[in-house]
Amino acid sequence: MSARTRVTMIPGDGTGPELAAAAMKVMDAAGVGIEWDIQKAGADIMEEAGTPLPEKVLESIRANGVALKGPITTPVGHGFRSINVLLRKELDLYANLRPARSIEGVKAPYKGLDLVMVRENTEDLYSGVERMVDPDHAESIKIITRAASERIAHFAFDYAAREGRKKVTAIHKANILKMSDGLFLECARKVAEEYPTIEFEDRIVDNMAMQLVQKPQLYDVLLAPNLYGDIISDLCAGLVGGLGVAPSGNFGDHIAVFEPVHGSAPKYTGMNKVNPTAIILSGALMLRYLGEEAAADRVYNATAAVIGEGKTVTYDLGGDAGTSQMADAIVEKMDSLR
Ligand code: NAD
Repeated sequence: MSARTRVTMIPGDGTGPELAAAAMKVMDAAGVGIEWDIQKAGADIMEEAGTPLPEKVLESIRANGVALKGPITTPVGHGFRSINVLLRKELDLYANLRPARSIEGVKAPYKGLDLVMVRENTEDLYSGVERMVDPDHAESIKIITRAASERIAHFAFDYAAREGRKKVTAIHKANILKMSDGLFLECARKVAEEYPTIEFEDRIVDNMAMQLVQKPQLYDVLLAPNLYGDIISDLCAGLVGGLGVAPSGNFGDHIAVFEPVHGSAPKYTGMNKVNPTAIILSGALMLRYLGEEAAADRVYNATAAVIGEGKTVTYDLGGDAGTSQMADAIVEKMDSLR
């Protein structure tokens, strides 16, 4: 990048601001000129702005085209709707990308895994079409459209082609949900024909869950509608050590928002305690998106090296370093890897 690139940073709430500070420190040290456009959203801005998602946050993301975001607390059962869901809807971030890659030094059931989940982000049972028919009878509608299914399948295959991946596995329950999941599968099969060099297969979701626990090495890129993608991507995160190290990206046609998968861990707010790995690796995904592959690799390799050494890591990785100390160790490691 020759000129400085403006990136929207949404620190979030709870432990979000500490994590955002750690991520910015590491991204700044990666040698890419990022100008941070810091925008507040979530519980902390609610009183001041009257809304947890002020319009200027959306305007900033639309103008910059790219954002890095800390976690935001969603009140349970009352209060405002999930900001994450709102952002995805407002910006039409239709693809959720969740890599699950083993890192040496992270306690996990498997080593050497490199899976990626591509999850449809806009429809399925998350469309919000629900009603109480009567006090004892509730209904939720599962919506699957050809347009959204073909769009996400193209995203998965384009990603696989770009990243030199070998295989896409579509996940469904078309044996029971013959129309909705049947349509999703039909679209995946049709799109697969356009990518003859990438192997395509499909799995019924329950079998997929078992296979991933027993032989995850057999899988590469996974493609799923919203609900199965949500559940199976957490399963994949568990295979490589859990949410503390799980990054993600949400993509529209011209906008991308990167964020850790975990929540705001409110009980640790202000304690400089939580693990910054997931937001830093989300930042590395962002650098790749911006075409800064070398910087992305530096950030990833330095983070993996610090975790591998196990000396300056947070409590969940068996250490006693704080969030900021771990970020400092990653910055130092990047300098020594140059
Ligand atoms: P959480 O992910 O915040 O915490 C679950 C457990 O993991 C806790 O024990 C926590 O201490 C630990 N943990 C989480 N992140 C960690 C980190 N980086 N390092 C070390 N330990 C970590 O999940 P929760 O408690 O269910 O949710 C808290 C809030 O976050 C809720 O309001 C939820 O809606 C919200 N949330 C937001 C997002 C997002 O903004 N993308 C995602 C998930 C949950």
